[in-house]
Amino acid sequence: MAKRLFIKTYGCQMNVYDSARMADVLAPLGYAPACEAAAADMVILNTCHIREKAAEKVFSELGRLRRLKAARARRGGAMIVAVAGCVAQAEGAEILRRAPFVDMVFGPQAYHRLPEMVARATRAGSGVLETDFAPEPKFDSLPEAAAPQGISAFLTVQEGCDKFCTFCVVPSPRGAEYSRPAGEVLAEARRLVAAGAREITLLGQNVNAYHGRSPEGGGAWGLGRLIRALAGCEGLVRIRYTTSHPLDMDEELISAHGEVPALMPFLHLPVQSGSNRVLAAMNRRHTVDEYRRVVARLRAARPDIALSSDLIVGYPGETEAEFRATLALVGEVGFAQAYSFKFSPRPGTPAAAMAGQVPEAVKEERLAELQALLRAQQTAFNRACVGRTLPVLFERAGRHPGQLVGRSPYLQAVHARVPEARRAELLGTVAELSIRSALPNSLSGALVAGGAAAGAEIERASA
Ligand code: SF4
Repeated sequence: MAKRLFIKTYGCQMNVYDSARMADVLAPLGYAPACEAAAADMVILNTCHIREKAAEKVFSELGRLRRLKAARARRGGAMIVAVAGCVAQAEGAEILRRAPFVDMVFGPQAYHRLPEMVARATRAGSGVLETDFAPEPKFDSLPEAAAPQGISAFLTVQEGCDKFCTFCVVPSPRGAEYSRPAGEVLAEARRLVAAGAREITLLGQNVNAYHGRSPEGGGAWGLGRLIRALAGCEGLVRIRYTTSHPLDMDEELISAHGEVPALMPFLHLPVQSGSNRVLAAMNRRHTVDEYRRVVARLRAARPDIALSSDLIVGYPGETEAEFRATLALVGEVGFAQAYSFKFSPRPGTPAAAMAGQVPEAVKEERLAELQALLRAQQTAFNRACVGRTLPVLFERAGRHPGQLVGRSPYLQAVHARVPEARRAELLGTVAELSIRSALPNSLSGALVAGGAAAGAEIERASA
């Protein structure tokens, strides 16, 4: 009897990728996706540790699952409950202490061992805890067979981080930087394309620190070299990557932005602050000027490149003048979109213990002012696209009849009404759209006559 699996994913795209791979690992055991926890024989919470109260959210969700599990047991059935991801890695034993009905707790480096953990949990009837960093990279044991991820797919190429920014929890649950061998990545990319992907986003906590063993085995490839090889993958029309660190934007990668048509002109490049003193306190190991220079080199290589970023306000000790410096840098660079946060002290990070914690009200004020500026920049960027012709990769049907939704090269959501008869043919293709209007978070456009083929042409030509 097929068993049903429900995975609830929190946090980043790497967790989305990990959840998809967990399902691939469990498929040979007979687990098929369930649409909700109540209908599942196994429920996995794939957790994120970035935000405050992350762990508390997990415990409240576990409360709901405990009731579902108990109800299933009263009907003579069984439900396996598991916690995975970064909260599991950081607080594994605590989860089993506070929620003894949980059957398995395992970190991001251990999910390739799921078949063995399920057997142990079923036998032992009590909690299995797997948070050691496995000596063997999990990727070596993941099944080749992967459920299709759709037209736009994620592919983890690098994991972990050696930067140790003082506000960040990532290095502890995700471990040291590890880059997958290039041959392995290329093989997985080909499988994703064979399964229908036309766009691949390469993932890593510090993806541009990638240095995977070359397919020939001699030496290592950087991310730029990997992207050039991926661009040769038949059927793959778009390549993206996230998340990058300014320190690792090397010449090979920057020149790829100018020379590889499939590499999209959109880059998420966190800067966090516009103050050198704050950047140093964050241990970002670069200055504001160095960030400016990276941006200038990128724009020289690809003049239409659009940038996104991460910004933190209210870092311990941040003065009004330092906050103004952040606003000034944002004004100068101009971001197509960006994520902005109030500093939140994460347990176990150096910044949490720093003097000069900024009052919550001041953080709120600064965040509101920054977000107003970022919204204005995003709206201006979208408005500037009205009247232009943009190649759009159609990814799915829209909410309205006859509507398709896709992404521009600048990762903007674009929706368009297309003739019913052409919808199936257009899905998964790059079509040329004339942009008619701009909303804060999306654009709407109309197919240009002969749009589909011309779209791909335009894309190649516009590089
Ligand atoms: S580079 Fe990113 S993932 Fe690494 S410690 Fe800094 S913020 Fe965290």
